[in-house]
Amino acid sequence: MDPILECKNICFSYHNLKGETKALNNISFQVKKGEFLAIVGPSGCGKSTLLSIIAGLLEPESGEILLNENEQNKIRIGYMLQQDHLLEWRTIWKNVLLGPEISKSLSPQKEALAQKLLKDYGLYKFKDKKPGELSGGMKQRAALIRTMVMEPGLLLLDEPFSALDYQTRLMVSADIGTIIRASGITAILITHDLSEAISLADRILVLTKRPATIKNNIPVHLTLPEDTPLAARNAPEFQDLFSLLWKEISDEYSG
Ligand code: ADP
Ligand code: MG
Repeated sequence: MDPILECKNICFSYHNLKGETKALNNISFQVKKGEFLAIVGPSGCGKSTLLSIIAGLLEPESGEILLNENEQNKIRIGYMLQQDHLLEWRTIWKNVLLGPEISKSLSPQKEALAQKLLKDYGLYKFKDKKPGELSGGMKQRAALIRTMVMEPGLLLLDEPFSALDYQTRLMVSADIGTIIRASGITAILITHDLSEAISLADRILVLTKRPATIKNNIPVHLTLPEDTPLAARNAPEFQDLFSLLWKEISDEYSG
């Protein structure tokens, strides 16, 4: 199948008064439609920079980002970050409809979609509450629904669970993984949690320390009694994959 996204020889450096920081060096990879790709790498290696370039928020210094789209069929990119960025003075309902409201695309169809997503993911009865009345995990789910209401063709997730405590994080990452799978949406997840990457992704890219290059590309094939992210953690292949990733990343810290 054609890739939905192709990153070709991406290089990027930050420039400021102290000089140049080279963040990305010759990054090339493709993502297929419907694929769930995780990207892991040492802290500060350039992961968020890469995602910002894919989102079009930063221009690469050289190389190009190719999206498989045309004039009639543009790919909308959804972006979800560590903080939920819900607006405290708006209800959950008003928060999840923020995107259509800002882009002047609010319609009965969008409202019906928001309602369906809130119902499907157990937040409908909280729709009139303010974000502060919800738990961290619920807020992060509301933030995902807000992103999904825009019907993105490509979803970018930059460590979306890292502000949550461990228990919540396990539950919410499993929920969100299931939601993304069920929707068939193409997703790129950045995480420093190797177990999370293995349990959610079809494939894992490992980056080197800064300036990031691609160190490895590891397909994830798990033998599963049921296809859920929590069950994935008990798959027989899980431990070997974890050890492999752990070694790849720790080599970067020591080398
Ligand atoms: P990661 O997400 O992998 O932790 P980032 O992509 O955020 O890493 O950052 C990569 C490197 O670029 C880091 O060393 C960081 O300090 C540096 N960096 C990030 N943003 C800027 C900036 N605006 N100006 C200068 N350096 C930056
Ligand atoms: Mg980052």
